[in-house]
Amino acid sequence: MPVPILDLTPELDALGPALHEALERVLRSGHFILGPDVGAFEQDVAAYLGVRHAIGLNSGTDALFIGLRALGIQPGDEVITTTFSFFATAESVSLLGAKPVFVDVEEESFNLDVTQLEAAITEKTRAIVPVHLFGRPANMTAVLEVAARHGLKVLEDCAQSFGARVDTKLTGTLGHAGAYSFFPSKNLGAYGDGGLLATNDDEVARVARMLRAHGSAKKYHNEMVGYNSRLDTIQAAVLRVKLPHIEAYNAGRRRVAQRYNEAFADLGGLIVPELTEGHVFHQYTLRVVDGKRDALAQYLAGLDIQTMVYYPIPQDRLPIYAGQYPRFPVSDLLAEQVLSLPIWPQMKEQEQAIVLEAVRAFFSS
Ligand SMILES: *Cc1c(COP(=O)(O)O)cnc(C)c1O
Repeated sequence: MPVPILDLTPELDALGPALHEALERVLRSGHFILGPDVGAFEQDVAAYLGVRHAIGLNSGTDALFIGLRALGIQPGDEVITTTFSFFATAESVSLLGAKPVFVDVEEESFNLDVTQLEAAITEKTRAIVPVHLFGRPANMTAVLEVAARHGLKVLEDCAQSFGARVDTKLTGTLGHAGAYSFFPSKNLGAYGDGGLLATNDDEVARVARMLRAHGSAKKYHNEMVGYNSRLDTIQAAVLRVKLPHIEAYNAGRRRVAQRYNEAFADLGGLIVPELTEGHVFHQYTLRVVDGKRDALAQYLAGLDIQTMVYYPIPQDRLPIYAGQYPRFPVSDLLAEQVLSLPIWPQMKEQEQAIVLEAVRAFFSS
C-alpha cells in the first residue's frame, strides 16, 4: 500500500458536509472578495491566538513582506533570519530591497541559533525573523531579549507553526507580529493559497490592512503603493470550518511523531526530532547520519513510501544569493541529513507501521 507524505482525505471525509455548506453559502452570497466570511475568520483567529488584530492575506509570503513593510522595514535595511527555511522567508526581505542577514541554526531544533544573533547585528539591522521550523517553536525568550536590547522588530514566521505554543502563548503572538500561511499542506490549510498577519500593534494592523487593498483604507482614496493581497473569501469560509479542529489536528500530529520516535529509539544511524512542549510537527524530520539519507529515501520510494527533503539547499546558498554569504556549517550539514517522513493528523497505526517497519528494515539490512 502506497503511503503519501500527507493525506488530506480524512479531513475532507470528516468535514465534507460542513465544507460544502460553507462553499454553497459563499457562492450564493455573491461576496467573493472580503465580505462576512473573511471578517468572521479574522475574528475567530484573533480570539484563538489571543491577539488584537488578525489580517487575512493572499499567502504566507505576502504576510511576511506586508508584515515587514508594516513594521517599517525599508530598502537598505538589514533583517536577520535563519539559513534553514523555505526561500519565502528570505525572499520577503529581498523583495522589499532590504538585505537578509543569515544566522546558522541549532542542530537539535533546526531553528535560529540565538547565541550567534548578537554578532550579526549592525547599525543597519532593523528586524529579526525567527522561523518556527517544522512546527517547533524557536527560542523566543532569547530572540525577544536581544531584540529589545537593540531596538529591533520581531516578525515570527509561523507558516509551519499554527497552534504551536511557547508556554501558554501561541507562536506569532510573542513578537511584534506573526506571519501565517494557509498553503494546503500547512497545519491549518486552505484549498488554495492564503495567509494572515497577527499583531497586537494597532498601527501595524492599520498599515497592513491598507497594504492588502492597494494602499487604501477607504476605497478609491489610495494613500500608498500597496498590493492586491486579500485572503480569498472561499478560502476563509473553508478555514472557518477547519479552525475549530486545529488543536485536535496538532495533537494527532504529536501522537504520530511520538510513535515514530518510540519505534526508532534503538536505531543507530538516525537522530529523531525531540518531542518538545508546544511542537506541532508540521513535518516529522529525521537526521540520517553516515551519508545514508539519499539511500534511505530511495529505499522507501521503492516501497511506495513518499518522503521529502526540506531543505536540500539552505537559503544562503541558493543560486540567487551565490557568493554573497560565508558558509554556515550546521545548516550545510543538515541539508545533507534531513529526511521528512509521512505525517498527518489522522494517520492510522497500520499506515504508520508500513513506514516504520520499512525504516527499521533499511537500518537492519
Ligand atoms: C510555506 C512557507 C512560507 C510561505 O507561505 P505561502 O503561503 O506558501 O506563501 C513561508 N515560510 C515558511 C517557513 C513556509 O514553510
